[in-house]
Formats: sequence, C-alpha cells, structure tokens
Amino acid sequence: PGSATAEAVDAAEAHSAHTYHPLPVVVASAEGAWMTDVEGRRYLDLLAGYSALNFGHANPRLTAAAKAQLDRVTLTSRAFHHDRFAAFCEELAALCGKDMVLPMNTGAEAVETAVKTARKWGYRVKGVPDGTARVVVAAGNFHGRTTTVVSFSTDEEARADYGPYTPGFDIVPYGDAEALQAALTDETVAVLLEPIQGEAGVLVPPAGYLRRVRELTAERNILFIADEIQSGLGRTGTTFACEHEKVVPDLYLLGKALGGGVVPVSAVVGDSDVLGVFRPGEHGSTFGGNPLACAVALEVIAMLRTGEYQARATELGTRLHNALAELVKADGPVRAVRGRGLWAGVDIDPAVGTGREISERLMARGVLVKDTHGSTIRIAPPLVISAEDLDWGIGELREALGRE
Ligand code: PLP
Repeated sequence: PGSATAEAVDAAEAHSAHTYHPLPVVVASAEGAWMTDVEGRRYLDLLAGYSALNFGHANPRLTAAAKAQLDRVTLTSRAFHHDRFAAFCEELAALCGKDMVLPMNTGAEAVETAVKTARKWGYRVKGVPDGTARVVVAAGNFHGRTTTVVSFSTDEEARADYGPYTPGFDIVPYGDAEALQAALTDETVAVLLEPIQGEAGVLVPPAGYLRRVRELTAERNILFIADEIQSGLGRTGTTFACEHEKVVPDLYLLGKALGGGVVPVSAVVGDSDVLGVFRPGEHGSTFGGNPLACAVALEVIAMLRTGEYQARATELGTRLHNALAELVKADGPVRAVRGRGLWAGVDIDPAVGTGREISERLMARGVLVKDTHGSTIRIAPPLVISAEDLDWGIGELREALGRE
C-alpha cells in the first residue's frame, strides 16, 4: 500500500475506537461489484457489506430512488405521517406474506424489537405470568451488538465485560431439534434463530430442522422468529432462506439489504395477532420508517418482486459452489465449504494460512473477502456480479491458496 492508504489507516487508528480490524484498503468509490481505493487500485468485492449490498454498489435504481427522495422530504419522525410510509409497509408486508411491519433502522434494533414483541405478546396474548417470559436461541448465534443481544451470545469476545446481562434466554445447540424441544417450557414465548448462521461461518442446519422448529413452536403456541437479516432478500436464491424448507415463521427480521446499502433500514414483519400488541408510546424510533429509508426500501422490494436477483443467486451460487468443491478434493487447501446460493463459508487448512492471511493475500490480488473465526473466510458477492468476474475471483482465491 502507498502513503495515502497508510495515512488514512493511521488516522483511523488514532481517532476511532478499535472495534474492528479492517483490511488495510481505503475505498474511495464503488460501482456494481467493484471498489476503487484512494490510490486508484480496483478490487472485486466478494463480501458485499455482509449482504447489505446484494444489489451492488451504486445500483442505478437505488441511487435514483434515493436522490429523488432527497429533494422531497427525508425525515418527519413518526409524529406525522408521510407519503411513502403506507406503501413501504404494505408492500413489505405483501413480500413477506404478512400483514404488518414495524420499521427500525439497524439489524440489532430489529432483533431487540422482536424480543420486546415476543415478551409483550407472551404476557398479553399467550398469558405467560408477568416477568417470566423466556426466549430460546441457538449457540453460535449472531444477532447484533446491543446489551440484550450480546447477553445471549455464546461468543466470549462479543460478550465479555458487558454484564450484567439481560436474563430470560435459553441457549441450545444449533441444528439439534431434540435439544430445542427439550428447552421449551410453558414460559417460552419465542424461538429466535438464523435460518443459516452467517457470522458463525455460513452454517446450514440439517435438512428438516427448520420444519421441525416450525412444528414444535406451532404445537406449543410459541413464536418462531427468523432472523433473515443476513440470509434474506435474495442471498440464498429465494427471497427468504426459510423458503428452502417451505417454512413460514411468525416474524421475519429484515435489515441489511432492505436499505440497499444506501441507508440503514430494518423491520420486523408479522401478522396483526402478534404485531398488533403494540399501542402508541410502547416502542419506537426517530428514524424508523423515515421517508428516505422507505423510498429506497420500496425500490428494493420492487427489485425483489421481479425474482431476477433470486435467480441470479441460484445460478451464480451453483457456479460458486461447484468451483469451491474442486478445492475441497483430497489434500486440497480447503477443509470444508458450506452455504447456499451466492453465499459460502470456506474453512481453510490452517497449514495454508489463517483466514486473515488469505484475505490479505487476496487483497493484494485485487479481491476483497473477510475472515471469521480464525480459519474461515466468507464469500458473499453482490448478486449483480457477472459470471466472468465471479470466475476470476475464485481463480484468484485458488491461487492465493497456493494452487495454480
Ligand atoms: N442479525 C444477523 C443475522 C446479522 O448477520 C447481523 C449483522 O451481521 C445482525 C443481526 C445485526 O445487524 P446490524 O449490524 O445492522 O445491527
């Protein structure tokens, strides 16, 4: 890296809290699946903002929607109605096959909102004694960074030194329906799961697991909350990852790509028998459902309705997984590959390098990915990536792993 990069990295280190360890690349502009740094070098983006950029950087439709809205009105707060709000809620609910939306901004806020929804529903509708509600979650989860959300994380790094923790959560192994069944009690108001665990390394649960969770929760009048913040909105080849098992949760949690990588937009989506529990003053957010957010999200919803992006994720995902499967073959540099659609977790043989080292080698080759949990790298390109660029990126990965 040249001096412009070094200066920007040093200044960031000096003046920002060190909550991240970014690769030393300083992006100045981006379009589609490509980013350009402050020194004019180009990089293929195989991370897509952890799936917030499913539609690519500077997607012309999303940029146009945002620009048009910027000139009209950007914020009213929820003290007043605005003219994009009803359409946003109606169309997002329809996309989810539900009838109500509770808009927030970040993913963690959607999760917090879902926990509050489940508890309130538990007390007001299910009849659980006040103050006793429990929520079952999975080990290895990632649902965000707020105090309550890290209270039920099993990642020590994410959790240490933030106590006292919010009580009321039961943690079961991910993918084990029997363990989940055993954890359900009369006080359980919800089961909260990622249909595919993203941060954990793109863990796909065993076939039939989500279906079984749906059956168990339905039998016991427990809400099934699917955190589709990373898995949803096209990434796996369907609008929701739950669709692969034909499962419909009670609540969908959406974020990331809902704001098209332009603005933070998240939402809890469900039916009125659940989301109808709220009354004015009981929950809210100044920016939740703001006009700019709604304008961009409406365009995202319109794009998803075409099915084009889901189809691309399926088609390019097959291409990605076929190519990665080649690297797993006997004595290959890759131990395992998981994933669905245009989304993969790749476990590297530690003898070849750490995830970080491989990410740095790839960066030097003009490809950006991010490591997780030591020896895993995640691949989640924008769904607009071309087949040629994807092939090139995988070729660079093969070479970075020492295989020509
Ligand atoms: N839930 C899942 C499944 C996620 O992957 C993430 C972010 O990675 C979140 C929640 C939190 O979203 P945010 O960072 O917008 O708070």
